[in-house]
Amino acid sequence: MTTSDPNQRQLIREAMQAIATRKPGRSKLVYDKTKRTIVAVAEGAQIAQALNITADDADMFGVLTLSSEWIQEQWPALTRDGVVPLSFSSWDDGDALTQSELCVHASASVVYGELLLDAQPTQPQLVAIILEKTDGTTSDQGVFVSPDGATYRGRVQSAQPQGASKTDVVFADVEPQLALRRSSILETTILKNKTALCVGLGTGGAHVALELAKCGVGRFLLVDCDRLSVGNVVRHPGGISQVGRAKVNVVRDLIMEKNPKAHVEVRAIALDQDNRDAIANLVVVADIVICGTDNRQSKLLLNELCVAANAPALYGGAFRRAYGGQILRVRPKHSPCHQCFVATMPDEASDVEVSSETDAGEIAYSDRPVAVEPGLSLDVLPIANMLAKLALLELVADSSSTLNTLRGDFDAPWYLWLNRPEPGTQYADWPPLSESSDEMTIHRWYGIYFDRDDACPVCGDFVGSLAAHYGLDPAQLPSLEDGE
Ligand SMILES: [Zn+2]
Repeated sequence: MTTSDPNQRQLIREAMQAIATRKPGRSKLVYDKTKRTIVAVAEGAQIAQALNITADDADMFGVLTLSSEWIQEQWPALTRDGVVPLSFSSWDDGDALTQSELCVHASASVVYGELLLDAQPTQPQLVAIILEKTDGTTSDQGVFVSPDGATYRGRVQSAQPQGASKTDVVFADVEPQLALRRSSILETTILKNKTALCVGLGTGGAHVALELAKCGVGRFLLVDCDRLSVGNVVRHPGGISQVGRAKVNVVRDLIMEKNPKAHVEVRAIALDQDNRDAIANLVVVADIVICGTDNRQSKLLLNELCVAANAPALYGGAFRRAYGGQILRVRPKHSPCHQCFVATMPDEASDVEVSSETDAGEIAYSDRPVAVEPGLSLDVLPIANMLAKLALLELVADSSSTLNTLRGDFDAPWYLWLNRPEPGTQYADWPPLSESSDEMTIHRWYGIYFDRDDACPVCGDFVGSLAAHYGLDPAQLPSLEDGE
């Protein structure tokens, strides 16, 4: 039904019900040659050269989807009682009925039903699905395999004629079906038990979490204290119907839509000194830490906690208005940490922070350009995609994954990407992409090496370096832990 005329919609609905029950009704469907479409007219109305639509012509196929896993769990009750109740999200005027157990978000309209085995429908107002023995192949999604190995098809026997008059019953075996599609690309069994801690769930951070869920990462810890706002929606994976919700909950639900077996824990807290212990407890159980926050203090705090816990971490960020972006990968003690990065390349480290609203306010009185918008999704996603890939590489590092062939390519600690040669930046004079093969251009990733800071207070020998500088014996210096 695509017509917007409510009267016509009502007539069509009544005609469909009449057809479905194969009884005459107040209206009927005809093909109107002048309009070249099917219309509903009052029963008895005279339409010149119209073609009557009969029940056989109008048989429509809806789809009713059941959870195989749920039926297997209910099998003892079903074989004992012959009936188990269930409910469905009803989508598109009843064209698709999806069992509630499969839905992260329910539809506005819920339909109740009963699943029957060797039994008759008990209540006429319920959608009755009757399981009938078949010898169909088990790879057919219309076939359910019971715990005792017998195969069944589902037939809908609905006393209430609404929407589709004929409905295909399919059985969703979610976990095996998703695993099968991932398995040729990734070692899903490895990723299932890996934990990704995602701190900061803006456009980039949320996208990384979702991509990891699609790859089969099974455990997530999500940290962000913000709520989804209307302005976020143009970029963020969360949509307008999620506005006002905590971003951690929005992203958790998006993960569950992609990987229903994922284990997701959420903390709607800020990454700051007040929550230092809470975050530290998450860092110690994470296999990879992904930082998508937009200010220096939070990144340096997380860096401290990750180096202390020996947890590999990835810090991603877009430059102002997303003219480009960068990723820093920190393997504690083996590569420079974020503190080293800030000490070695303060300008590069600062540019990312200028893209944040919080920091834009602080520099509003300076002579630097102030940009509060971190750019469009299109310009943020190349950075988020790369970040997700680097995260996967860390997660499969201890396995024999084919992804490890990339290890040599992604060896550098720092990755740079430019979306455009932004005027006023050091990249403004880069040659056009089409004319250059050996100079740096936009839309290419660059892996860049830089050294650890030996005197880094987080990952280096700060006290030793200081002592050497002043010609002192480190053993004679007070320990930092003494608080002296
Ligand atoms: Zn360091």
